Amino acid sequence: MAVEVLVLKETAAGERRVAATPETVKKLAATGASVRIEAGAGLSAGFTDRAYADAGAKIAEGDARGSADLVLCVQPPDAAAIGQLKPGATLVGVLQPQGDAARGEAIKAQGLTAFPLERLPRTTRAQAMDVLSSQAGMAGYKAVLIAAQLAPRFFPMLTTAAGTIRPSKVLIVGAGVAGLQAIATAKRLGAAVEGFDVRPETREQIESLGGKFLDLGVSAAGEGGYARQLTDEERALQQQRLADHLKGIDVVVCTAAVPGRPAPKIISRTMVEGMKPGSVIVDLAAETGGNCEVTVPGENVEHGNVLVSGPLNLASMGAVHASEMYARNVFNFVSLFLKDGAVNFDWGDELLAKTVWPERAGQ
Ligand code: NAD
Repeated sequence: MAVEVLVLKETAAGERRVAATPETVKKLAATGASVRIEAGAGLSAGFTDRAYADAGAKIAEGDARGSADLVLCVQPPDAAAIGQLKPGATLVGVLQPQGDAARGEAIKAQGLTAFPLERLPRTTRAQAMDVLSSQAGMAGYKAVLIAAQLAPRFFPMLTTAAGTIRPSKVLIVGAGVAGLQAIATAKRLGAAVEGFDVRPETREQIESLGGKFLDLGVSAAGEGGYARQLTDEERALQQQRLADHLKGIDVVVCTAAVPGRPAPKIISRTMVEGMKPGSVIVDLAAETGGNCEVTVPGENVEHGNVLVSGPLNLASMGAVHASEMYARNVFNFVSLFLKDGAVNFDWGDELLAKTVWPERAGQ
């Protein structure tokens, strides 16, 4: 019997992405799997049921959840939906099993082999499966477009009959995947762009995109290529230098994060109050609490004369391309264990062993 793969229709509020596209359905079918997709799963990302059917998928009917061996999703299904899955099935998505106790318990109770893709090691081999990177790229791009939309000014320098317009000064806080895409996007819009990060290697990356590295004198590289949390002294130094600098900035896009922790608070209320009237802050870190003290997740807040925006799920705003990238990431990941129409885990492969949840004994 061929492996049955099921692509779920996302149910989280505002989620427009889908975990497989017609392109990846075709590739899944080529492995010998039988692919089903829940009706309308791709519509909000621009993929019709017809396009999936043409690619070789069947539209799920009856108890497709209860018979699928491999279930693909973007956001984690809730505990009730997990309870409908076949005991022992494999579930792949951004599952955040520790983000919700009921969800984690349901995964265990159902005996699922769950692969929360946010746990994937960030190694070179894993790059083609790295959903955090692909989705962060879209988020960084959209955050800058939101900032450009909200700002009461042009981004580029303009020479017009009505005189010269100076370019907006844009500061990107944090230069990981989202931050670097934000720098590239703001640059393409013609702004004068600066970026900073606590990982020293970002200087070269920021400069290679045409941005200026803002040196705040703090270096805090941590494990696995990530940043570590700052000490109180480092944070004070960063804050003091940043407070002065922000007085000359028109637009800030915040993208700083430390894995497994709430977003570092980098822009204080007082700093916001010191900014020029009409300045805009877009805080992409809103989902994990925000880099700015004033941020309210999911809302635009006027603080004095500064507009602070905390948009959520920015990747979903670019659902077509975000889904194309996500679906390829997922296909590349499941290719590690889906071969010749069968599921076969090689637990000696660190990408599987380190991603699976709950962790296997001895891993
Ligand atoms: P992230 O989303 O966890 O963090 C975003 C950025 O915020 C990081 O650059 C971090 O250094 C920065 N930051 C944290 N605290 C800060 C502070 N107090 N002030 C300023 N900046 C702060 O990171 P990410 O975008 O997921 O990527 C981070 C690392 O992972 C990078 O080293 C990147 O090269 C690496 N990476 C590797 C791969 C791979 O090889 N598969 C893929 C993607 C990313």
